[in-house]
Amino acid sequence: MERVVLPSHLIEQMLAQACASPHAEICGLVTARNGHPSRCIAVRNVAPQPQRLFSMDPQQQIAAMRSMREQGEELYGIYHSHPQGPAEPSTTDIQQAAYPEALYLIIALNGERRPQLRAYRISDGKTRAVQLLTDPAEGHGS
Ligand SMILES: [Zn+2]
Repeated sequence: MERVVLPSHLIEQMLAQACASPHAEICGLVTARNGHPSRCIAVRNVAPQPQRLFSMDPQQQIAAMRSMREQGEELYGIYHSHPQGPAEPSTTDIQQAAYPEALYLIIALNGERRPQLRAYRISDGKTRAVQLLTDPAEGHGS
């Protein structure tokens, strides 16, 4: 199984954003610098049924992509939450996955007791689980 290492502060940021929105899916982008995940950029969910779907605000998404390019970063991942469902891509998620090179991160709230973050690659309608490892040292120099 493919493995990726994510800095723990990025994981905490995504989980916090998801937990703060128990009734609507949240979404955003993860950027990378030289292949290393560096920032999370939250993007507003403008889906008509945000409790079970996400659709990134197009203007915010464009602004996030521009900010990324300006800072010499690339797209690393796309994250969203499932307030009710499991931390697995839904049929709609698989159909709408447009970035085969991106890591798809899904946060399940599990009733807010113990939120869970899982990662996938999605391409050609197929989903592959990716093992997530945490790097707690990230963000303290180096
Ligand atoms: Zn989903």
